[in-house]
Amino acid sequence: MSNTEPDFLCVHCGLTMSALTPEGDERDHCSGCLTSRHVHDQHDGGVSDCAARMTPLSVVVPADGRWRLVHRCVDCAELSEGLVAGDDGPLPLMRIAVRPLAEPPFPLELLGRV
Ligand SMILES: [Zn+2]
Ligand SMILES: [Zn+2]
Repeated sequence: MSNTEPDFLCVHCGLTMSALTPEGDERDHCSGCLTSRHVHDQHDGGVSDCAARMTPLSVVVPADGRWRLVHRCVDCAELSEGLVAGDDGPLPLMRIAVRPLAEPPFPLELLGRV
């Protein structure tokens, strides 16, 4: 990790993002719209030549309690997982986190019967 990483433009909303998060991690998605880019090869490691847009799919919370965002590439459908940064927008994050609850695959009334 170095501090010489260039800033980058979000491919989706055009926001300029700093290369590093407030935590000092390498930033892998836009903190405004949470869109990422397919630059890492998830299977073989190293750099991917895909470079397509990756849309945020869901939020996962591993045992360490730090939220992670799951992205899917719009081009090759590869999945990636990255740490949520301290300056990620709370609103878009919550929108993704509650999406399954807002659109349940069964009528919510069923919960009242169990
Ligand atoms: Zn963005
Ligand atoms: Zn891809």
